Amino acid sequence: MVGCAAPVERLLLRKVRPMGGPALDLLVDGGRIAEMGDGLRAPAGAAVVDGRGQLALPGLVDAHAHLDKTLWGLPWRPHTAGDGLAALIENEHRGRAELAAAGVTVAERAGNLLGAYVAAGTSHLRSHVDVDTAAGLDSLHGVMEARAAFAGRIDLQLVAFPQSGLLVRPGTVELLEAAVRDGADLVGGLDPAGFDQRPVEHLDAIFAIADRHGCGLDIHLHDGGELGAFTIDLIVKRTRSLGLAGKVTVSHAFALAEVSPPRLDRLVEGLADQRISLTTVAPGNRPPLPLARLRAAGVAVGLGCDGIRDLWSPWGDGDMLARAALLAWRAGARRDEDLATALEVATAGGAAVLGLPAYGLTPGCPADLSLVPATTLGEAVVTHPPRTLVLKSGRIL
Ligand SMILES: [Zn+2]
Repeated sequence: MVGCAAPVERLLLRKVRPMGGPALDLLVDGGRIAEMGDGLRAPAGAAVVDGRGQLALPGLVDAHAHLDKTLWGLPWRPHTAGDGLAALIENEHRGRAELAAAGVTVAERAGNLLGAYVAAGTSHLRSHVDVDTAAGLDSLHGVMEARAAFAGRIDLQLVAFPQSGLLVRPGTVELLEAAVRDGADLVGGLDPAGFDQRPVEHLDAIFAIADRHGCGLDIHLHDGGELGAFTIDLIVKRTRSLGLAGKVTVSHAFALAEVSPPRLDRLVEGLADQRISLTTVAPGNRPPLPLARLRAAGVAVGLGCDGIRDLWSPWGDGDMLARAALLAWRAGARRDEDLATALEVATAGGAAVLGLPAYGLTPGCPADLSLVPATTLGEAVVTHPPRTLVLKSGRIL
């Protein structure tokens, strides 16, 4: 299904059902959705595709990935890491060295996985990329190489991510700043309190980089309970004082599912006020985020696959519909409208996290979409069948 991008200037999709609505025709022109309606006339020279009543979904968005870590395309590797963050990080350093010694590059592994993402209709992806004192900027450069190879098929945002810790590894702050200078779109953080043990200095350092370079931030926050809540307060305060509203994301934010309702109210108020977005990866071992509460407050939440088939976890396949199914399953969703909410996190929610200026299935939006053989959005989530057509900027992939 997915090969080289075939240049089609004009394309008429007949009988597709945008987001499960009534069947209509959709005209793509110059990479954008030009017109939608019943019985549209095909312009001269336009290609015509019969959608046969399939669902049309906007480009799926992975708002939290780790492309540099994946072993996608390599033989299955049983998970042998010890328990706990430090053991996982140590295991990764060993595995990364083995891969490098075997001549398997980051660009090759990331490219393997990007192929799967594209085939599954993912149009945009934000990947964290490890930056540390052992590998320097090598992983970033590898993922940038894969990004260039997939230009026009999927758009990537890259986060310079201090996976091995920030202040516990002197020299990492400088490397993060070098990564931003070299092309990382955002600067990351990692459990400023729980892992680095110096939350104020950790956040001051990464916010200072964002302030100097005008880039956004996306901070991994696994710390739960009051420790995580306290860290969110610190993030809100710095976002406000530096005028970075709308440019900050907190990833995971498990604390939001673990604090008391009044404490949650105060946290949500701060997040909404500073337009701080969140990402979740629908983990099996932590309580799900209070999505309805966040949605009501206007806090954007995007969905991610996190690491896929890597030294942290054997799970994932690059299909955001499959990940939406996991999110819905974790939330106990059964009704079609509740299943569709999970899909919204994987589409419009992620688009809001990434700050995409025009997104969706309306005239004027980039023609990023896929067709899915399903009768409702709920069925698309639960069955997540292969996409039968994928368009990126109006091109059939
Ligand atoms: Zn992550």
